[in-house]
Amino acid sequence: MSLGQIIDGKAHALRLRADIAQAVIAAQAAGARAPALAVVLVGEDPASQVYVRNKIAACHEAGIISIEHRRDATLSQAELLALVAELNRDRQVDGILVQLPLPPHIDSAAVISAIAPDKDVDGFHPVNAGRLATGLDGFVPCTPLGCLRLLEATLGDISGAEAIVIGRSNIVGRPMASLLIGASATVTVAHSRSRDLPELTRRADIVVAAVGRPEMVRGHWLKPGCTVIDVGINRVAKESGTGTRLVGDVAFAEAADVAAHITPVPGGVGPMTIACLLENTLKAASRA
Ligand code: NDP
Repeated sequence: MSLGQIIDGKAHALRLRADIAQAVIAAQAAGARAPALAVVLVGEDPASQVYVRNKIAACHEAGIISIEHRRDATLSQAELLALVAELNRDRQVDGILVQLPLPPHIDSAAVISAIAPDKDVDGFHPVNAGRLATGLDGFVPCTPLGCLRLLEATLGDISGAEAIVIGRSNIVGRPMASLLIGASATVTVAHSRSRDLPELTRRADIVVAAVGRPEMVRGHWLKPGCTVIDVGINRVAKESGTGTRLVGDVAFAEAADVAAHITPVPGGVGPMTIACLLENTLKAASRA
């Protein structure tokens, strides 16, 4: 029997998106122009195309203008940097999102570093990463920001809680750890070299899994009554042998028997990522 209460990321995201749409209307009533997000997509990666389409639809619904810049996979790094420089200068553009991954001949770090930090709504620029790590205001990456919003909505104050973040990527794990430290949790960051991950995980009141390994975190790794945020999105073959399905980094059914709260995949963290992108774009526009 499942004991865990499912954290409905979709419902939380819809509420946040409605609040953002209201704020956009209020800002326009006060004389501001609509916030504008430039979305750059290089190449034909099918997953990236879906993400970009969803982000643009969400912008539209919230009253945020989105300007799409599609380029062939053959675009040179110099051409992409020139486009970013042009968007940095454009006073009608509040936020810039360069969809990752970029084709292998382009140095992603160089492109991210070329985005003006004030327009970096993905929060990947080293200036924003540094701001987050030092507790200063800046742009926070959308996925960990969404995870924090879900944790706070579910648990309220998390100060003093023992948290483990499994994964140390710049996009999820590290910024997640910084956010949890900022919320006064006691934070362990685990990765592929960590010893005895099950034992480390069993100590935690909050488990954030951002690994990219299907159902790696098992039910018996968890402390009874903990809260599990599953960031993983993994496509696996269906048991029936035909087609595929999405699973997280956590073995959901087992974990739901032990945890008090758990996010599903899909329908947990994913929808919050897009809602937080809108939040960051609104923030960029209000600052401008
Ligand atoms: P990365 O591949 O960049 O990072 C994975 C991290 O997991 C690394 O730090 C790695 O450790 C660690 N790791 C790998 N294997 C193990 C292991 N066996 N034990 C412990 N740690 C391990 O992935 P991302 O952070 O970009 O993404 C993680 C997952 O989240 C993916 O499934 C991705 O699809 C999903 N995702 C979901 C989003 C959403 O909106 N819901 C947004 C972004 C990502 P090491 O550093 O030592 O190599």
